[in-house]
Amino acid sequence: MRPAVEIEVDGETGVWTTDGLPMLYIPRHFMLGIHDTVEQALGRERYKDLLSQSGAASAYFWCKQQAEARQLDGVDVFRHYLSRLSDRGWGQFHLENASFEHGTATIRIENSVYVLGRKTEAEQPVCYMFEGFIVGGLTYLAESKGLGFTSVTCREVQCQAQGHEFCRFEAGMTP
Ligand SMILES: [Zn+2]
Repeated sequence: MRPAVEIEVDGETGVWTTDGLPMLYIPRHFMLGIHDTVEQALGRERYKDLLSQSGAASAYFWCKQQAEARQLDGVDVFRHYLSRLSDRGWGQFHLENASFEHGTATIRIENSVYVLGRKTEAEQPVCYMFEGFIVGGLTYLAESKGLGFTSVTCREVQCQAQGHEFCRFEAGMTP
């Protein structure tokens, strides 16, 4: 099958864009190599914290931009965000058990890039990059819908890299 995302290439600059944003197309091994190198240098917890912050900021920006460009509601833009992450090859994202009014959501991911790029079974969940993505998307959703939640958290509670059937993320929003 062909990719679900459309890619535009600027004839003058060579810059690729999708959904109106400049994009990069890079080998998975290259990105995972950088990921592992930085994790080893900083330590897992420190790197996880930093990635969560930058991932959340990036996801928030993307959702805000897409909501405005496509006139999407906060819930729909979050669903669109998960769909686009899937379309761009990060993994197959599925929203489960979402109760945004009560501040809870569970996201299932199959075939995450962080799982497929590993050769050995992991002792801890390895897809923590996506925790920040989900936090940013839900922060935008909560803000745009006026849900009154200011604190959003997300944790990968099981990972396919540990031998589970799929990765599962649990998110919570509190006032
Ligand atoms: Zn995982």
